[in-house]
Amino acid sequence: MDFRDSPEEAAFRDRLRTWLTEQKGKFPTSGDEYWAAQGDWHRALYGAGFFGTSWPKEFGGQELPPVYDVIVDEEIAKAGAPARPSLGYLVVGLGHHGSKELQQRFLPGMINGTERWCQGFSEPGAGSDLASLTTTATRDGDEYVIHGHKVWTSYSDVADWCLVLARTDKEVAKHKGISAFIVSMHRPGIEQRPLKMISGVTKEFGQVLFDGARVPVENMVGAPGEGWKLAMTVVSHEREPSTLGFSARYGKLVRQLSSRVDGPPPEALSWAWVQTEMLRLHVRRRLSEQLDGITHGPQGSLDKLLMTWTEQAVGHAALATVGTSDPELFGAYMYSRAQSVMGGTSQIQKNIIAQRILGLGV
Ligand SMILES: Cc1cc2nc3c(=O)[nH]c(=O)nc-3n(C[C@H](O)[C@H](O)[C@H](O)COP(=O)(O)OP(=O)(O)OC[C@H]3O[C@@H](n4cnc5c(N)ncnc54)[C@H](O)[C@@H]3O)c2cc1C
Repeated sequence: MDFRDSPEEAAFRDRLRTWLTEQKGKFPTSGDEYWAAQGDWHRALYGAGFFGTSWPKEFGGQELPPVYDVIVDEEIAKAGAPARPSLGYLVVGLGHHGSKELQQRFLPGMINGTERWCQGFSEPGAGSDLASLTTTATRDGDEYVIHGHKVWTSYSDVADWCLVLARTDKEVAKHKGISAFIVSMHRPGIEQRPLKMISGVTKEFGQVLFDGARVPVENMVGAPGEGWKLAMTVVSHEREPSTLGFSARYGKLVRQLSSRVDGPPPEALSWAWVQTEMLRLHVRRRLSEQLDGITHGPQGSLDKLLMTWTEQAVGHAALATVGTSDPELFGAYMYSRAQSVMGGTSQIQKNIIAQRILGLGV
């Protein structure tokens, strides 16, 4: 393992640093303002050649190794710029399971940010046990008609498209009766209701109600009943190491907190430093393995768990160091509570590790 930049990586990093300096102050970095401007930030990053770097050229990417995403995350964190929008898991989901026609129609807009997306998987009664979802899609001629209730749908208020899981067959085993659809958020029969987070943010996610929304049959991703396979691809990539590149953001928060301390740091801050450093090195090892063609499958659950521990250790450090006196740092603490829930809870990750990596209870 050689963690130093290659000459090409160093040139990319330099170009990015210069560009980030020019963007200083143009885009909000937190709160509702960040979420409201996230689309502009996405398009600005893409336009300058710093977004979608590892994705296929055919769809507007640059096909660079995933380490370039980490460089982007590191430099963004150093510059104090807004976080890189995260949607790689949707690109991978559509890339693996969508037809060529769907990929050509939807991937370029998803990657360049001209079309915004959300992920409609979770429901009030189906989160960890996603296979028990009750939203239905019933075929009517050349369309499916959707009824149901999705919740915790990130970016639903600004989304043009939603990747929806819905039940198309009630007669087969739970997970075999689910299909995936690309649904326009601008059609009749769809209501989007914002949800307020503990941090006060109202723009990050909402609930989406489908009452007779229609979707053309050609917008089904894969064949009827193949929605579960797509869901598994999407959730396993939500935990992938290159998305963990934002460990750089945790490092920056730890440095920010350290600068507020006179004398010996609180124990929580020292622990956060240890965790952040551990995660940084772990991500680099994962990326080296990825470059060698090693895929990780269920090991993504280890990555997700490590990331959660780190984010929550940093959150506790913020609380121990500045309390509630700094809204941004206190916000980091509050947001960290969500990390053990989103993208699959910590308990579910531990179940996967126990069963699929350690072979326990099978
Ligand atoms: C910030 C954020 C963003 C999100 N974005 C999206 C999104 O864009 N799209 C989307 O579809 N969803 C999204 N979600 C939803 C997320 O995927 C679910 O919250 C998550 O899967 C947990 O489901 P649940 O909330 O229904 O909790 P439940 O599944 O009801 O779990 C409740 C508790 O029971 C535990 N538990 C459940 N089953 C088991 C088990 N078998 N073994 C041990 N413990 C168990 C859980 O670990 C948890 O502690 C988001 C969530 C958050 C917090």
